[in-house]
Amino acid sequence: MQHGRCLCGAVEWTVDGPLERMTHCHCARCRKAHGTPFATYAFTPAAALRMRGAEHVTRYASSPGFVRGFCSVCGSVVPSAEVNGQLEIPIGSLTTDPDARPEAHIFVGSKQPWYEITDGLPQYATFEPGDDAPVLDPLPQPPPTAAGHPRGSCLCGAVRFVLDGEPLLARNCHCSRCRLARSAAHAANLVAPHDAIRVTHGADQIASYKIPDAQFFRQTFCRICGGKAPRHDAGRGIAIAPLGIFDDDPGTYPDIHMYVASRAPWFAITDALPQHPAGVPFR
Ligand SMILES: [Zn+2]
Ligand SMILES: [Zn+2]
Ligand SMILES: [Zn+2]
Repeated sequence: MQHGRCLCGAVEWTVDGPLERMTHCHCARCRKAHGTPFATYAFTPAAALRMRGAEHVTRYASSPGFVRGFCSVCGSVVPSAEVNGQLEIPIGSLTTDPDARPEAHIFVGSKQPWYEITDGLPQYATFEPGDDAPVLDPLPQPPPTAAGHPRGSCLCGAVRFVLDGEPLLARNCHCSRCRLARSAAHAANLVAPHDAIRVTHGADQIASYKIPDAQFFRQTFCRICGGKAPRHDAGRGIAIAPLGIFDDDPGTYPDIHMYVASRAPWFAITDALPQHPAGVPFR
């Protein structure tokens, strides 16, 4: 029996069934829903899911017939998408160690150009061979900015921003809060000076959830689609943007993995970036 939950705990679930065809998906819809360079999903029979707190789930049809669910309180992705009686389970939300492990990378054709795949798993441009689900058109891109700044946007496009300045750094974080917030193997965030990330559209659609006992930890997301959004921290003079929601190459990439002592048991770090067991201060 597997157990999963959102960041705030309003929604939690069990899966009493197999987790099959576990893959890392690099499609733009997954990237924006999770805010990460890839999301990890496996299929289970729809009848295997038991969910508590379903009244907190907002559903957004990211394409015809494909509905993504997220916790309306904290923005975590929760199981929702059902295809032919099979549910897609976001593996990053599990608090248990699934028996299964990722088998492949899918939608590598939509991968963010800076993200390098370094494990030995098979890579497919779209779905795995034998999966006859229809391949969707690419997500519409927001219009380019006059100054050519790197753009970012949520899944539905209501929230848009530009990177208008030099970022400070970017990092991969494997802490359990980040994993539950992003419902993914780990977070990958860009940190910039406060005014270098400018929300150009939909600021009023950005919802925010702060963990009660955390000093800083906050998740910001589009209340329409659950796509992740940048957040501004005036107190620390920084802005943080999830790397998965960039439409253009931000030019700054993660240079470390931190909190690897909390790494998901099903995810192996195979790149050469330095690994820190705990957190590393920004400056
Ligand atoms: Zn929640
Ligand atoms: Zn995907
Ligand atoms: Zn949105």
